[in-house]
Amino acid sequence: MSNMIKTDVLIIGAGLAGLSTALSLPKSLNITVLSKAALEVCSSHYAQGGIAASLDKADSVTDHVADTLIAGAGLCATDNTARILGAGQQAVQWLCEQGVPFTQTTLTKENDNTPDFAVLKTSDLHLTKEGGHGCRRVAHADDATGR
Ligand SMILES: Cc1cc2nc3c(=O)[nH]c(=O)nc-3n(C[C@H](O)[C@H](O)[C@H](O)COP(=O)(O)OP(=O)(O)OC[C@H]3O[C@@H](n4cnc5c(N)ncnc54)[C@H](O)[C@@H]3O)c2cc1C
Repeated sequence: MSNMIKTDVLIIGAGLAGLSTALSLPKSLNITVLSKAALEVCSSHYAQGGIAASLDKADSVTDHVADTLIAGAGLCATDNTARILGAGQQAVQWLCEQGVPFTQTTLTKENDNTPDFAVLKTSDLHLTKEGGHGCRRVAHADDATGR
């Protein structure tokens, strides 16, 4: 068949989950990402606020878990919540290394208006505080984080 595509890996979905999976795989693989609509038509592209993780020096994974269990009103499995949130700092650092243009603290911006995303660290990121969080915890790329 002329329209048959051969690929090592087929990923269905081109949002955060699909694209993160694609970026995590070895570069030697031939990877195909399928989307049922334009790349801009998915929840990931619409997400604005940012990504919550325990990144501030005054914060802790324990506090993040406690806030999340309260906000979850009994719907969150404690073990899974702790495992996911425990990987938050590492996950945001990985996004920094992929070149996500997270908003940085004013101090960093004053020092360098042309940020080198290759060296961006979670400690450089500006954090906002959203409902349910006991402290500043939300890393963001202006108001278009998902995009
Ligand atoms: C308006 C809005 C704001 C949000 N704000 C935030 C926020 O600030 N912070 C936060 O953490 N979360 C936020 N969220 C939630 C967050 O966006 C989602 O949890 C996350 O983006 C889900 O990613 P995903 O890859 O699973 O799904 P999506 O990003 O929705 O991607 C799904 C992909 O699958 C494709 N697809 C679906 N069905 C098929 C099919 N049959 N065949 C082929 N492809 C298919 C779609 O085309 C799309 O590419 C927000 C969500 C919305 C809607």
